Amino acid sequence: MIKLNQLFIEALPVIRKLEAAGYEAYFVGGAVRDFLLNREIHDVDIATSATPLEIKEIFSSTVDVGIEHGTILVLYKGQSFEVTTFRSESNYVDYRRPGTVTFIRSLEEDLKRRDFTINAIALSGDGQLIDPFKGQEALESKLIQTVGNPADRFEEDALRLMRAIRFVSQLGFKVEDNTMQELFHKAPLLQHIAIERITAEMVKLLSGAYNHQALAIALKTNIYKYWPSLYHNQATIQTALTLPIQQLNEVELWVLAVYLHKSKDIKNDLSKWKLPSKKIKLITTMYHFLLWRLENDWTSYSLYSAGFKIACSVEKIFTTIHKLNDTDRRLKKLKLEYEKLKIHERSEMQVNGTELAQWLNREPGPWIKNMLEEIEQMILDSRLQNEKMEIRKWVQSCQIPSEKN
Ligand code: ATP
Ligand code: MG
Repeated sequence: MIKLNQLFIEALPVIRKLEAAGYEAYFVGGAVRDFLLNREIHDVDIATSATPLEIKEIFSSTVDVGIEHGTILVLYKGQSFEVTTFRSESNYVDYRRPGTVTFIRSLEEDLKRRDFTINAIALSGDGQLIDPFKGQEALESKLIQTVGNPADRFEEDALRLMRAIRFVSQLGFKVEDNTMQELFHKAPLLQHIAIERITAEMVKLLSGAYNHQALAIALKTNIYKYWPSLYHNQATIQTALTLPIQQLNEVELWVLAVYLHKSKDIKNDLSKWKLPSKKIKLITTMYHFLLWRLENDWTSYSLYSAGFKIACSVEKIFTTIHKLNDTDRRLKKLKLEYEKLKIHERSEMQVNGTELAQWLNREPGPWIKNMLEEIEQMILDSRLQNEKMEIRKWVQSCQIPSEKN
């Protein structure tokens, strides 16, 4: 018997209510796996023999989040839990999600349709593990292995190819031999998968502590050939694999890819992955600071312009590219330099555009922006104190060229 952790205990009343109504209910999926691995668990998923309508009869507050797949969100005592009816899947069309979902009453059948043995373990409210596919053995031997025949399972849903290597990246597991062979054979099926689903897995892959291993498998199995851009390139991955990329997070790894790939149209390359535009902007900004950093040392002004977070990321990518092993020391130094900056954002400047116009008795215009920038530079370079009277003195001593309209 297993001692449940806090998140399971909070969800236990949901299981108990389903049981009291005569149904079976278990914790399933990633939470059970991560719990057995002593990893932090996030969302707790519940599988039950009750159909969606039966679930809705039991709980007064529910949301139909995916009723056609059997998933109901149960709101209970201020929390929400995904409850999914046991189901089998069939009629996979075009190597994608199943065409037909059949609700069933058997837990084992439900576990059987799951992708990997480590993801096919159920945990009862009493702390009993139901593990018909030897998921625990796979956890102990640190193996990613499909439930059943890997060729069939990848043909049913080719997204599982990506899922296999993102679990490698998150868990540091090896891929079981047959499963590995089929990653290679079935890689071309990824063409049929919507890019958004591939990207969701890629983001997790790049965020994993073992991203190096995962990218190595993507290269070896040709999975990378079915990615839309950037890491789509053999040389890009090969070079990345010679670098200490483990220290980079997801966004930093996109920046590295843009750099290694010598991307000519960054926006286009990143858009092919359908990344959110905010993220594309961030990656682009970081990339430009990286190019600058590769040629220069940080100055007060560049540090200020980048901001602390971007500067740290850029420095990490810089040390990765140069295979330097003193990242921590460099980041500490950067922090001290950043703290020493006279100002950290525009709003800290003891002057604004209205004041400039008043002091000089001039109509506001583009000159204000230029002058504020000049003052900003001088403050950062310690050529001018960030003090209103000092700034005013300087402003009034300036010969300002008259503006042509
Ligand atoms: P994470 O910790 O990232 O959420 P997870 O294992 O919970 O990982 P989910 O995508 O949340 O992954 O899926 C929950 C469970 O549903 C999985 O553990 C697995 O049992 C099953 N599952 C998810 N996607 C598939 C798929 N494509 N094919 C088969 N089973 C799947
Ligand atoms: Mg999950």
